Amino acid sequence: MSSNFRMLALAMVLRLLFVLPAAGQEQPIPGFPPIPIDATEEQVRQAAALVRAGQKLTPKAWPNGARVAVCLSFDVDNELLWRRAPLPVPLSQGEYGATTGLQRVLDLLDRQSIPASFYIPAMSAALHPQMIQDILQRKWHEIGVHGWMHENLPTVGDAAKEEQLLTQSIEYLTKATGKRPVGFRAPSWAFSQSTLDQIRKAGFLYDSSFMAMDEPYELLANGQKTGMIELPINWIADDYPYYEPQAGGSLPDPQLVLEVYKGEFDMAYQEHTMFILTMHPHITGHRSRIATLEKLVIYMKQNPGVWFATLEQVADYVKAQEKDEKR
Ligand SMILES: [Zn+2]
Repeated sequence: MSSNFRMLALAMVLRLLFVLPAAGQEQPIPGFPPIPIDATEEQVRQAAALVRAGQKLTPKAWPNGARVAVCLSFDVDNELLWRRAPLPVPLSQGEYGATTGLQRVLDLLDRQSIPASFYIPAMSAALHPQMIQDILQRKWHEIGVHGWMHENLPTVGDAAKEEQLLTQSIEYLTKATGKRPVGFRAPSWAFSQSTLDQIRKAGFLYDSSFMAMDEPYELLANGQKTGMIELPINWIADDYPYYEPQAGGSLPDPQLVLEVYKGEFDMAYQEHTMFILTMHPHITGHRSRIATLEKLVIYMKQNPGVWFATLEQVADYVKAQEKDEKR
């Protein structure tokens, strides 16, 4: 590939990133009034206080002297991403995740002998109950909560309703997997005013929806410690901005996406922290992209001291180390 072409493709990637709603261009949402330009310092602090970053929780050492923790995570949203306009053809784009994508992901993880975390909205599992069986059959993957219907929590607009959906989601996955899930990842990475309180009350070990650091940290609620471990995500280490439907399927070149992921891993390795990659079976499960993911795994494995783990394993370890340090 010529360097000009590489630059062009990279520019396309960047453009895609900046047109995403996550870039901070959202419409005002009820319960979250905009911060006016003449707000006082105190008002700005108040407006930002709901959920903030507390102390870093990266342990002094990872298990067995590993230099970095690597978590591959998959949000199994499938058809539910088209819930608001469920036309047959777009739904089939999501259905691909269940018919083909997930199986490819599981086969890759088998070949490379690494565990992963899967966040599954309950109704996504209901459409394809076999998915959970296929994941459980491997015996070392984690299944976590990702909403009931992939509902956008701040727009539910009713704390009691939101809590009911959370309870239902936990109960559904507990019944389907035989184990109560310990990890929470908010659908569309969106928290309402109530979400943090509700997941604390429900007893989750960790959350994976925030972006204030790129290593484990503690969530603060209105300035108070919560004890909730955050295993943060970000749009850079996600398949959606690069491969989403607007990208049209041909560009950006998966090779360029691979370069971005490698760069994220390389610095996590140098800093001895953590690299979490977020993917979707209906997006990364396509042929050229699965091949790219496998290249990435092989690349990471060439480095000594890479701990491939589920987020649950990382959270358990972080929590145990924290207790040790307090003794
Ligand atoms: Zn999702």
